[in-house]
Amino acid sequence: MMIMIELSTIQKNIDIIQKNIADAAARSGRDSSDITLMAVTKTKPAETVSFLLRAGIRCFGENYPDETAGKISAFRAEPSAWLAMIGHLQSRKAKIVADLFDEFHSLDRLEIAEKMETLCTERKRVMPVMIECNVGSEDSKSGWLFADDSIPDSFLQDFEKISGMSHLDVKGLMILPPYAEEAETNRRYFIRTRKIAEYLNQYCGAHITELSMGTSSDYTAAVEEGATIIRIGTALVGPRDYSAKASL
Ligand SMILES: *Cc1c(COP(=O)(O)O)cnc(C)c1O
Repeated sequence: MMIMIELSTIQKNIDIIQKNIADAAARSGRDSSDITLMAVTKTKPAETVSFLLRAGIRCFGENYPDETAGKISAFRAEPSAWLAMIGHLQSRKAKIVADLFDEFHSLDRLEIAEKMETLCTERKRVMPVMIECNVGSEDSKSGWLFADDSIPDSFLQDFEKISGMSHLDVKGLMILPPYAEEAETNRRYFIRTRKIAEYLNQYCGAHITELSMGTSSDYTAAVEEGATIIRIGTALVGPRDYSAKASL
């Protein structure tokens, strides 16, 4: 069974989330207009995407390129909408991302950066990318590992190579820390990510302006610690039913 959601429910959810963003921004002296609410629509039907557009959402995150390809027209119905790949990308699916997505936020290894650079060179396009950092140091997660507050040389070497790729534009860092009941639990990971960005900007000539961090369970702490993009699925469009998906 596909889990359906009403437009009115989505509108109510957006109001709640926007209020929480505004409160969290106020607590940390930030301007809430600097924070973008990204709707995560994996496993959700095209109709849900259309509802989100009607409710004013313009930024979308998707995880599975084949699934996205099947509902791409829903996103493209609104010219100002933009779509980011946020899931682990297999090399053989990279072409779909180069063809269909506006941005690639889950750049989690050097090989996929090289692949994307080649694909984007062929297509004469520049892909805005976010570097995925595994700050929760979980084996199950993708991205460069940050076991503590130090910055590994191996990461800096890869970062320099990626920064030099002419068809990739490194605009930010992205993290997906462990699931936490309490937003507070993940605050240290949000702080760590902000510090990595500060280091790269100060010592490596980087221009990192975006931090994509915070999901349904922990976005308030992420906003307090500097998130510029929060990625919300469940709190916006309800729980996911993975069995409804045709293929990963
Ligand atoms: C699924 C997903 C989300 C959304 O998580 P929710 O807890 O449903 O808000 C955010 N980011 C990534 C990378 C995801 O895969």
